[in-house]
Amino acid sequence: MHDKTNQIPRPSSPVPGPALPITPPSSPFKSKTVRDNGLQTPQQSRASRVRRDLEPRTPPTSPHTPPDRRHTGEQEARRATFSAIETLKKCLPVHRKECAAVAESTKTACKITLPARNISQFDEILARISDNLKGGLSEQTLNDLVTLALCHIHKGRPRSTLDKVSRLLFTAPSIDTPSWLVAKVIQSIVPELRATCLSNGHSPYDTTSMVGGRNVHITREILKRVTEPDIFRDDFQLRAYLEVLGESMFCGLHREEEAPGRVAEWFSEIRVICPSIESNPAVHPAKDFRADIAAIKRLEHRRCDLTGYEISPFIHEPPGKSKGIQNIKNALKPKSGPAKGHVYAYEVEGNAGLVKIGYSKNTVQVRLDQHALVCNRLPKKLFPLSESPDREVDHPLLVEALCHAELSRFQTKVDCEACLRKHEEWFNVSPESAIVTLQKWSGWMDRTKSKSNWRQALEKELNLRDTEGLLMEIYDNI
Ligand SMILES: [Zn+2]
Ligand SMILES: [Zn+2]
Ligand SMILES: [Zn+2]
Repeated sequence: MHDKTNQIPRPSSPVPGPALPITPPSSPFKSKTVRDNGLQTPQQSRASRVRRDLEPRTPPTSPHTPPDRRHTGEQEARRATFSAIETLKKCLPVHRKECAAVAESTKTACKITLPARNISQFDEILARISDNLKGGLSEQTLNDLVTLALCHIHKGRPRSTLDKVSRLLFTAPSIDTPSWLVAKVIQSIVPELRATCLSNGHSPYDTTSMVGGRNVHITREILKRVTEPDIFRDDFQLRAYLEVLGESMFCGLHREEEAPGRVAEWFSEIRVICPSIESNPAVHPAKDFRADIAAIKRLEHRRCDLTGYEISPFIHEPPGKSKGIQNIKNALKPKSGPAKGHVYAYEVEGNAGLVKIGYSKNTVQVRLDQHALVCNRLPKKLFPLSESPDREVDHPLLVEALCHAELSRFQTKVDCEACLRKHEEWFNVSPESAIVTLQKWSGWMDRTKSKSNWRQALEKELNLRDTEGLLMEIYDNI
């Protein structure tokens, strides 16, 4: 999607330029007080609290022009830059060589030691900012500084640290706020992209909490759109887009009850940091359309091309070290997986030569419907065969593990944009080989389950033999 940030006419109080801080105080949507430490719980961040804490900064109203405006302006810029640098140093403890992130599991500061070179690189960047008042702090520079302040674990997940720093920079005494910083603070108000329902009313492994691939796609687009000035500064559009966001981020169970409240919170929090402007009829001539949530939803569906199932080629990567034998051992434990169930294989349009092989304790159709919803790709069933659509097997997890192990050389990892996960149960094989493999190990299970001590025999084979030829030995000997 193209970035319209700098193309939108701004009739009054222009959204300032790309860097912070360079001009005398004039922003109407800055606050004087530090809003929080960036680590609020959703409850703490309720709009009422934010509104009380934040006082929008008013533009200077003195009727007298200072004697030397240029001089004063430069001093202001220097002061603001100093304040921005102090804020950065305070919330990014690079000089203590500590990671700035908060560890998700413990909710306490990570504090993993940073490499020494990060300090010098961090200082170099700060020196550049302080020397070059006009250059100011750009989005890229902030991203670089935050990356230098994170350990190897958190480097790939800078979001919560960026949220915290952006909020502190936004509320630090400074001059104009660049639109990228407003966008970053908006990002810290709306939820992060996710594939599961926003409600707390789901248990951790509840599969009904998935909102579905199409909703994830819509969410991804809306999260970008609400950081564009023409959307976030227009009441109608912002409200409509947030409504669509609420609709796509909750599951059917919680949508009606919980989405409106959250949408209202996001809206008022965004309005606290950034007031609306009069809409520009030249940009949005069809005023009625903007109030129409359904129209915006249809528009976004079209923009995202969400008229049907995804058929694009998968983005896939090498699978990493095969865990085939370990998976068989795990599946062999007495309580692993259901006693009875189904193994299945399917392919999807646009990805000929790739087959998914899995197991389910539900009927295969229920499982396939789940895949269609969650990954937004329509499965074409290969196994069970149409002659025996309800074919059951004992210990389906073990049968699956045996099939996976046999085909492990062909395994691939699929990066799924719809459910935001990596799927590891895909294989670069023809439908025929997948079917033959599933038939073979389902048949083996049918024969073996009645034999006494088959578990012990299998365990013995697994411990005795190396991987090479192991599966043939199992097949023939047990
Ligand atoms: Zn860390
Ligand atoms: Zn839900
Ligand atoms: Zn998926």
